[in-house]
Amino acid sequence: MLSRRQFLKVAGLGSIALAVHPLGILTSCTNRKGNEKNRALIASVEKVFSQLEDNSVLLPGEQVVVPVLDAPLVGVASADNPLFETFRRDEVIGSQWRAPKEWMPEAKSVVVFFFPVSGEILARHRAAKTPTNEAWNYGYGKHGKVLDAFISGLTAELDNQGIRYFIPTKDPSFKIEQHPVMSGGKEDVHYSTSWSNRHVAFAAGLGTFGVHRHLITDKGCGGVLASMILDCELEPTPSGYTDPYENCIHCGACVNRCPAGAITLENFRNLKECRTYASSLRAENDPGYCGKCLVGIPCEFVKP
Ligand code: SF4
Ligand code: SF4
Repeated sequence: MLSRRQFLKVAGLGSIALAVHPLGILTSCTNRKGNEKNRALIASVEKVFSQLEDNSVLLPGEQVVVPVLDAPLVGVASADNPLFETFRRDEVIGSQWRAPKEWMPEAKSVVVFFFPVSGEILARHRAAKTPTNEAWNYGYGKHGKVLDAFISGLTAELDNQGIRYFIPTKDPSFKIEQHPVMSGGKEDVHYSTSWSNRHVAFAAGLGTFGVHRHLITDKGCGGVLASMILDCELEPTPSGYTDPYENCIHCGACVNRCPAGAITLENFRNLKECRTYASSLRAENDPGYCGKCLVGIPCEFVKP
């Protein structure tokens, strides 16, 4: 599990001593300084994660139980971060994008969580010779359920604290449009979405993109993201980067890991080829998750 010190580091609070309520409860978002609110939020995140009841999975072949997700890195962006306007450009996300205040007019902050997939699952997926395997199918396959339980616990905490929140990806108006594009002379697809966890994670200082198009954080790329908008003014996390691909060393390891040849250093991941390959893996009792470009690479669990 992530230590309190690591939580604080990621939340941009450095080595400031903790002085939160023993239960991690923030009674109100008003009349407090930003850092106090950040500390209270981090305490709530830590508490909710540590109390998750079902963050493990039985691998039926091996007959072992392994954890699904590790404790999250947490990043914060101001709802007024100017990056959010740039996401409207066609070459970034496109016109579908809606900035935080378009979802929630009283928005003050965006909070983003990166949960590393557990080392037990990553190690098995890395070592497997086959594209799909039970650790990835059952372990990674359960992450949505764990995320839902975490979000449910955290929103209950926020409710208790009188903090209002909005989760765009759970809203019925959340949209994903697909547009055919050409990339390096090949057919590709561009997803124009009304909210993007990867992009808001970049704005919230959690990391930058890689050639494989996953987010590379201080804990690597082998993880999953969630985000929410709050009406609570928090201290933004300093990003420490300026280039959207700064954390990628362009080593080409993910290119070599992809069984579909869908990644090139010049044109990055071809999402159409990736999707077609993943679909071909699906079979009875096999959801066909690939994700080989997340493991066995220098950015799997660290920033290279
Ligand atoms: S494996 Fe290398 S090229 Fe691929 S995303 Fe990671 S750092 Fe970048
Ligand atoms: S998910 Fe699989 S097919 Fe898609 S880019 Fe990664 S390794 Fe290639």
